[in-house]
Amino acid sequence: MILKKVRNVLRHDLWDYKVTVSSFCSARCESCLTWRIKQPKYMSFETFKEIVKDAVRNKGKVFQFHFYSIGESTLNPLLQQFLN
Ligand code: SF4
Repeated sequence: MILKKVRNVLRHDLWDYKVTVSSFCSARCESCLTWRIKQPKYMSFETFKEIVKDAVRNKGKVFQFHFYSIGESTLNPLLQQFLN
């Protein structure tokens, strides 16, 4: 199943957006280094808008849009604005 998805992405040049809206995390998972980041940050609304503009420009090619790459996304106080 996953291989089929990967082939589809490669064949059709589809884009997978993984957006890190927060590099803060309150967990301490052993397998992750996120919580060791010395100066974690939240993504600004302006940066998020630029990413969305880019996704809109590539509209027909966007395969998936994730609000997670590293960090805990729900800690960003602007998350509700991003979703709106
Ligand atoms: S970002 Fe995810 S995996 Fe990493 S410490 Fe936080 S909860 Fe754990």
